[in-house]
Amino acid sequence: MSPIELNKRQDTILQIVKENGPITGEQIAERLNLTRATLRPDLAILTMAGFLDARPRVGYFYSGKKTMTTASESMMNLKVGDFQSLPVVVSENMTVYDAIVQLFLEDVGTLFVVDDQSHLQGVLSRKDLLRTSIGTQELTKIPVHIIMSRMPNIVYCKKTDPLIGAAKKLIERQVDSLPVVNETEKGLEIVGRLTKTNVTKAFISLAETHDL
Ligand code: ADP
Repeated sequence: MSPIELNKRQDTILQIVKENGPITGEQIAERLNLTRATLRPDLAILTMAGFLDARPRVGYFYSGKKTMTTASESMMNLKVGDFQSLPVVVSENMTVYDAIVQLFLEDVGTLFVVDDQSHLQGVLSRKDLLRTSIGTQELTKIPVHIIMSRMPNIVYCKKTDPLIGAAKKLIERQVDSLPVVNETEKGLEIVGRLTKTNVTKAFISLAETHDL
């Protein structure tokens, strides 16, 4: 069993919560001059390892106990929402040309396509766009819904899903990213983007936390 070894930032967070808890993630981020999103993986690891407790609408407080958590237990507790990135969303009527521009501007590999109700309809990958660029001159005329991969064949995940399950979907379906969604009665609302890079980062933070 490998004992938890905290990195410098996690140590600082623990100190802040010990002295000021209960304190919200937002307030911790402010003290460290970082964004809440940047702190999310650290807070997840500290909570999962038993150093911190979190109560909805109250915040984080020091639990006082030092639980020994194995790396495999920690891994099973990682959630999609702690590692996801911001989604880049385009309308199904956007032209292929504009989608290519968007891909460069936003520096992502995959665009998610929505209808005018903002519900997930499809996915556009780098190669979807490249294939169309080779095959046609009409990039400024073709809307992306003609070439995208579409529902119901889109593989997605939810914020609360275990990261390991989402990682398996990425590998089994051989795709680079999954939309992170809220399931509503009317359709799927996109709230994030889970990529192979996110999973790789989680893998590294797990190794660092456990001093592997
Ligand atoms: P690339 O095509 O650039 O290699 P991917 O491996 O992500 O990128 O995509 C492969 C194919 O799978 C593309 O046609 C893409 O539209 C589709 N695709 C990508 N992500 C998903 C997903 N989450 N669900 C279903 N299909 C997807």
